[in-house]
Amino acid sequence: MYRTHTCGELRTEHAAQTVTLAGWVQTKREFGKITFVDLRDRYGITQLLFGEALNAQLAANPLGREFVLQATGTVNERSNKNANIPTGDVEIAVTSFKILNKSEVPPFTIQDDTDGGDELRMKYRYLDLRRNALKKNLELRYAVGRSTRNYLHENNFMDIETPFLIKSTPEGARDFVVPSRMNGGQFYALPQSPQTFKQLLMVSGYDRYYQIVKCFRDEDLRADRQPEFTQIDCEMAFVEQEDILQMFEGLVKRIFKDVKNIDYTETVERMTWENAMWHYGNDKPDIRFDMRICNLKFPAHTFPTKENINHLISGAGFGVFDDAETVLAIAAKGCADYTRKQTDELTEWVKRPQIGMKGLVFIKCNTDGTFKSSVDKFYSEDKLKAIAEAANAQAGDLILILAGAEERTRKATSDLRMEMATRLGLRKNTAFKLLWVIDFPLFEYAEEDNRWVARHHPFTSPKPDHIATMINNNPVIEDAAKYLEHPYSNIKANAYDLVLNGNEIGGGSIRIFQRELQEKMFAALGMTEEEANHKFGFLLGAFEFGAPPHGGLAFGFDRLCAILGGSESIRDFIAFPKNNSGRDVMLDAPSSIDDKQLVELQIKLDVKA
Ligand code: ASP
Repeated sequence: MYRTHTCGELRTEHAAQTVTLAGWVQTKREFGKITFVDLRDRYGITQLLFGEALNAQLAANPLGREFVLQATGTVNERSNKNANIPTGDVEIAVTSFKILNKSEVPPFTIQDDTDGGDELRMKYRYLDLRRNALKKNLELRYAVGRSTRNYLHENNFMDIETPFLIKSTPEGARDFVVPSRMNGGQFYALPQSPQTFKQLLMVSGYDRYYQIVKCFRDEDLRADRQPEFTQIDCEMAFVEQEDILQMFEGLVKRIFKDVKNIDYTETVERMTWENAMWHYGNDKPDIRFDMRICNLKFPAHTFPTKENINHLISGAGFGVFDDAETVLAIAAKGCADYTRKQTDELTEWVKRPQIGMKGLVFIKCNTDGTFKSSVDKFYSEDKLKAIAEAANAQAGDLILILAGAEERTRKATSDLRMEMATRLGLRKNTAFKLLWVIDFPLFEYAEEDNRWVARHHPFTSPKPDHIATMINNNPVIEDAAKYLEHPYSNIKANAYDLVLNGNEIGGGSIRIFQRELQEKMFAALGMTEEEANHKFGFLLGAFEFGAPPHGGLAFGFDRLCAILGGSESIRDFIAFPKNNSGRDVMLDAPSSIDDKQLVELQIKLDVKA
């Protein structure tokens, strides 16, 4: 037996017992004739005391950092207790020890505050994983997974595996492909998600499916994305949108309870996609704080149902506003006393290439009820007051106004809102706020191909009263500049996203389950009948054998864990992640393969790696 206890287990009640521990040498401290060693394992750290009697043996077998050590001794209550660790009341007076394995000096310190840089820690990930911080993250991940499985099991969901070697049907992200040796010249693809399989399982009658499953997308890695990531993938039959929203907000509430001991009792708010874009400028608003966008000017076709207040700012002779397609404002609480330096800094911030605006207009709502702005020349006090009212600004607030092309300005204002919230400390709060964003557009315009693509995926159903618009209109876009005026741009889907503190943590839809409608959808996306059959014939075929109404969603498991762990980075919650160029620096993958393998696969390379 290598050990009787773990390094996290011993307390004063174990005093006088003889125990054996095994673990890694975290630190060694010599005090005259005695040596203290902190021995670490997954469960904690225990102090070992090597007395004088062991000095000869220690001299012959010197201990180093990260050596694997087995030590037997007596549990003693410490005179000098360490309140910082659970085992801090005791130490082991070692009577015998054995070095089970030596270690090279680790390339970075295995401590909470390590001195290792990112790449180095990725290269020696197995050492990085010994650090407490990462261990806590993996424990949290395991807890989220366990809670998920328990909840879904209690609700009759069945975990069913689906294949990883599937057919390439590029739509959305790029597929990772795998050459087939047995079928020379042909390729499998790795699934971007088990979407079609879970739908087929509904056809097969498994009316509640889930899987915590790897998905693969060959995307250029934007910040904090991984080419392989994990989803909690779910599907239900005989459900409407409402059933799904209830079931899965229940899941997240359960995870909050199990993992964070948080009782999330409030109703989860719901917001249409249109309102999210209108009030927050993006489809995953952080609603922990208000600071809504005020739409001072916008082209009628972008939000046909919203009231236009263009007259407030147009025609005053201020060219920037007159010429802009869109003018948007936010009111920053209590910031009217910003200095010139602070406002200049914000102007520079919006001019950064990532934000891409030309400038920023300010209106200070002074506490005495007067206004001071950078556009005083053009707008009377009364006009400024009216703008302030429209922007919901109070005395003491600073109104920030951006003007320019619709899409960019909306995004920039959304980014500015988040930036101001960060500066005002409104995003620090650790409380969790959930939001369903519903009624997404069914289609999105793809400029490169001048065609419609599915905003979610091609299996998402249009809202029932929008089906006719889809079927009765030609998808062809005659005038690319006016795509927003095409009836397709107003078709809404039965699609929903769950947003947590401004992060999309999950999304899904009610699916199309009739062959004819699915065919129409493929046609709307510009697929010929032949193409649709080639790519998705199996699904269209299945829909002819009694497909039930169904719908589902998938959560980004890594992201959910990162948010619950209070981190920005999903990498810290994945045991063996890839770096920003999609490489595994520990394995040094991807890598070239042997010529023999290439021959077997009947592949000739154009480029030699
Ligand atoms: N398969 C979808 C995705 O990966 C989620 C869903 O619609 O269930 O985004």
